[in-house]
Amino acid sequence: MFKPATIYFEKNIENYKLGKELLEKYKDIPKIEIENHNNIEEMRKKNNYEFLKMKKNLIIGTRKTHKFVENHKVSNFLVPYTSSGCIASCMYCYLVCNYNKCAYMRLFVNREEMLEKIIKTANKYEKELTFEIGSNSDLILENTITNNLVWTIENFANTKKGKLTLPTKFAFVDDLLPLNHNKKIIIRMSVNPEYIINNVEYGTSRLKDRIEAINKLVEAEYEVGIIIAPVIFLENWEELYEKLIIYLFENLSNKAKKKIFFEVIFMTYSYVQNAINKEVFKNSSEIFEKEKFTGRGKGKYMYKKEFRQEGELFFRNILHKYFINNKIWYIV
Ligand code: SF4
Repeated sequence: MFKPATIYFEKNIENYKLGKELLEKYKDIPKIEIENHNNIEEMRKKNNYEFLKMKKNLIIGTRKTHKFVENHKVSNFLVPYTSSGCIASCMYCYLVCNYNKCAYMRLFVNREEMLEKIIKTANKYEKELTFEIGSNSDLILENTITNNLVWTIENFANTKKGKLTLPTKFAFVDDLLPLNHNKKIIIRMSVNPEYIINNVEYGTSRLKDRIEAINKLVEAEYEVGIIIAPVIFLENWEELYEKLIIYLFENLSNKAKKKIFFEVIFMTYSYVQNAINKEVFKNSSEIFEKEKFTGRGKGKYMYKKEFRQEGELFFRNILHKYFINNKIWYIV
């Protein structure tokens, strides 16, 4: 159970049901009132080495911008939702865009407003739309603090149109299993070889637990996908990922094996992540071997074409071998 070190909160959260609940839940935790969750002066001044300590705080406010961004993968729109940032510490997390602002977990209590906009947009379009609500944080993890995902499913399941989707690296799905979701929720479990989970994805669920969670969700009739991500081309990457695919094949239930789809995403990295990781994690050089990367603008890096091509071929072949009938949405 996550116990925040300090709560930073915007005064107006008291006007929202969830805001009141969180203030009550954390009544014994030290609190600091802030003007705006986007600009916490004290956080901006922190040094890189304080990164993990900063993640122990919780920031609570309201989301002011609600811009939907078109998307062409599993969803039609990326939608800002009830949280941003996370209390885990994956070394590659792209939410570390500017750690003084984005790394720690921010909760937004105006959830009614956000869900209503999704429902209205879904009803407005003729075609059935899917909304990605988890691109800014991990909502299964967030649910353990706010119960927001349960609330969302309960309030979305009986709406006329649309689906919601979210990715996760957490196995805490038990509260979702008894819900009447009406097949309107798609949960995509992110997986990686155990070595990478243990050494790079700090604070997330173990591989075994994630697979068990997939089996439970499938049993509860959720639509479920697997995201192999981010693929990291460590020295022995082929061996690691082949073992992972075999592990999936051997441990997913028959029902899950029939239903799941795949997405594969190669790791990207950035100057900011490198600066933080070098100070915070001792094995950061292992995941960022500079000679394997090329620039993709604004201090961001991606694997060179030869790695991505080799990787794509590898994953197409191995997934075809073990999961011949399962759809691969994309490999990027
Ligand atoms: S679990 Fe997801 S959101 Fe949290 S640190 Fe890892 S990649 Fe980032």
